[in-house]
Amino acid sequence: MTIEKENSNFIRNIVIGDLESGKHKSIATRFPPEPNGYLHIGHAKSICLNFGLAEEFEGTVNLRFDDTNPLKEDVEYVDSIKEDVKWLGFDWNALYFASDYFDEMYKRAVLLINKGLAYVDDLSPEEMREYRGTLKEAGKDSPYRNRSIEENLELFEKMKKGDFKDGEKVLRAKIDMASPNINLRDPAIYRISHSTHHNTGDKWCIYPMYTFAHPLEDAIEGITHSLCTLEFEDQRPFYDWVVRECEMEYIPRQIEFARLNMTNTVMSKRKLKQLVDEGVTDGWDDPRMPTISGLRRRGYTPESIKNFCTEIGISKADSTVDSQMLDFFLREDLQAKAPLAMAVINPLKLVITNYPEGENEYIEIENNAKNESMGSRKVSFSRELYIEKDDFMEVPAKKYFRLFPGNEVRLKGGYYVKCNDFIKNEDGEIVEIHCTYDPETKSGSGFSGRKVKATIHWVDANNCTPAEFRLYEPLILDEETESSGQHFLNLINENSIDIKNGFVENAQIEDAKKGDKFQFIRNGFYCVDSKYTNDEKLVFNRIVPLKSSFKLNK
Ligand code: ATP
Ligand code: MG
Repeated sequence: MTIEKENSNFIRNIVIGDLESGKHKSIATRFPPEPNGYLHIGHAKSICLNFGLAEEFEGTVNLRFDDTNPLKEDVEYVDSIKEDVKWLGFDWNALYFASDYFDEMYKRAVLLINKGLAYVDDLSPEEMREYRGTLKEAGKDSPYRNRSIEENLELFEKMKKGDFKDGEKVLRAKIDMASPNINLRDPAIYRISHSTHHNTGDKWCIYPMYTFAHPLEDAIEGITHSLCTLEFEDQRPFYDWVVRECEMEYIPRQIEFARLNMTNTVMSKRKLKQLVDEGVTDGWDDPRMPTISGLRRRGYTPESIKNFCTEIGISKADSTVDSQMLDFFLREDLQAKAPLAMAVINPLKLVITNYPEGENEYIEIENNAKNESMGSRKVSFSRELYIEKDDFMEVPAKKYFRLFPGNEVRLKGGYYVKCNDFIKNEDGEIVEIHCTYDPETKSGSGFSGRKVKATIHWVDANNCTPAEFRLYEPLILDEETESSGQHFLNLINENSIDIKNGFVENAQIEDAKKGDKFQFIRNGFYCVDSKYTNDEKLVFNRIVPLKSSFKLNK
């Protein structure tokens, strides 16, 4: 294995150090989502990190569902998470549920009680908060803190048997109520919840707290590097305490990194769930959602997401990434991959008055100007075409070189056409323009006479397919949502979707399947929508426009 050192990922450097020093012979990582929602682009950062390291250093990586909170969890989420990880192109060595370890966790809690390091507390949640103290003030001992080991064992057993109501008692670690780190002031480790768990059913009515369960899960699985986001930094002393005092054989190391924040994006399953529940979006996979399933439906590729994650790197410093950076990588990926096609989104009829009626011909057009190996196709051309409304002006603006009465342009891959006339309807709207074409000017014919200043795209009105085009803008208005202090529901962009009706050429699109991606000449990158496309209707999502002012700083 040849290892290149680089700085954009400090955790990778730690791993390299641990392998070189012999601290670990091989590494073991895990991706531990709570199945309480669909994964988002922030999770992709963590997935790329954990799976990426295991892949590069030939270690192992587990997918582990951190399902210690039965009320919020659901198998729908479990299934979607598995699908999303696979779609990104990763596979896990083993799949676990934290709930698989409930028996083991219970035993470790009993061990703590036996060591005099845990006690059952009767304080109410409010009282517990009061007793905890503040950053400046030490906490106070609970009056139940000095219960005997026997009494604690008996009460914990009763908690397990269901003798108490939710919230009536908790099991707490006995550490230090005066610790400067509030997380060490006797944190709760088991709580009562009479609820049905998606995995263990009604077997348990006590559940371990996340901060107690997580280190145990890592240790049980022999995880070497337990990677989490910065907000867990203050939990690390308790993480280490649990591993040590529960006498775990393997000692994982927790390392924190900065979470991904992105402009115009809410990045929390809880908030995304609210958008779904309140009907702001059309489900978790709405193409405007920053969920992996939303990005997939919109047309983002796994490669674009992975390249984006590599570019942003892994650091300890919190920052906010411009959401246009992801679009940059999408363009870079699709530019060479997506076939070109012609689509007219705001159609205007163009009649070539000197082209024979009832006839047509096929014009050869390349499938991808940047990738010759993709070949070409033959696009039908006839007397009646559609062009974009914007490509005609009755009275041309300054520097407007497209069609206007008396002006000539090239039709992409085809002939020069000159506008002679147009028809307006009763409302004064232009509904049809009349042109003549010059048969001498066919593309590729070597015509070297007069030049035109513009080339426009078109579709054959007699040989095309109607389609719906969904154009998106960011769902969230604010650039710096998280720091603006505004509630995200007040920042919803009312114009985040614009639905248009137009036409696509048949040559490239005829066999298009759900999820297929195209570069519509002069319009943008588009993807066949998987939800609304059916036998009767073809729906395209605009992934991104072709161009942006965004520049990657290299
Ligand atoms: P959310 O608040 O969105 O539910 P979470 O951190 O609670 O996020 P988990 O399911 O617990 O979600 O996360 C699984 C893993 O993904 C964790 O290791 C977590 O640190 C990581 N993760 C979550 N959000 C981000 C993010 N924005 N950037 C990087 N990693 C993240
Ligand atoms: Mg969480």
